[in-house]
Amino acid sequence: MDYKKYITIVEDWPQEGIRFKDITTLMQDGPAYKKAINELTDYAKTRNADVIVGPEARGFVVGCPIAFDLEIGFVPVRKKGKLPREVIECDYGLEYGKDCLTIHKDSIKPGQRVVITDDLLATGGTIEATTKLVEELGGEVVGLAFMIELAYINGRKKLDKYDIFSLMTYQ
Ligand code: AMP
Repeated sequence: MDYKKYITIVEDWPQEGIRFKDITTLMQDGPAYKKAINELTDYAKTRNADVIVGPEARGFVVGCPIAFDLEIGFVPVRKKGKLPREVIECDYGLEYGKDCLTIHKDSIKPGQRVVITDDLLATGGTIEATTKLVEELGGEVVGLAFMIELAYINGRKKLDKYDIFSLMTYQ
């Protein structure tokens, strides 16, 4: 399927120079969203995932339906101050800005095979921080799954020890 025709490119948002890839127009189309999730689910299945982990908020949109399909758990990674119980945290840099991600301390069991999901791979900072959180809890990151990869930013280089799958690539 040509998924790109469902993505809306928004110029200079949220700041000048950023070409924002809006996945909400893909999500609005039921069959396209389903097909995209099916492909990502097949990938997570080939990696024998025990659990799916996704950073807020669009990592939930991608990760939750995959976990639901595979009948495995989903673990949210959230910005500091959003999770209600004991967390570990990791600072990271974004394509635009800086932040701190957290995960519940009891959410991953040592040795669990983890596939991490997000809508888009840009610099890789978000996902690198997420891999650190998972690994600090003893999880094994067996795959990274994205709807979109911005090849011209080359976040893949930062994450080259991991298996990466993306549905669409922008050069
Ligand atoms: P990064 O940490 O640089 O890989 O950025 C990835 C995160 O920022 C993803 O969760 C995306 O939702 C968001 N993001 C970064 N750049 C873009 C972009 N050009 N279009 C849409 N989302 C983006």
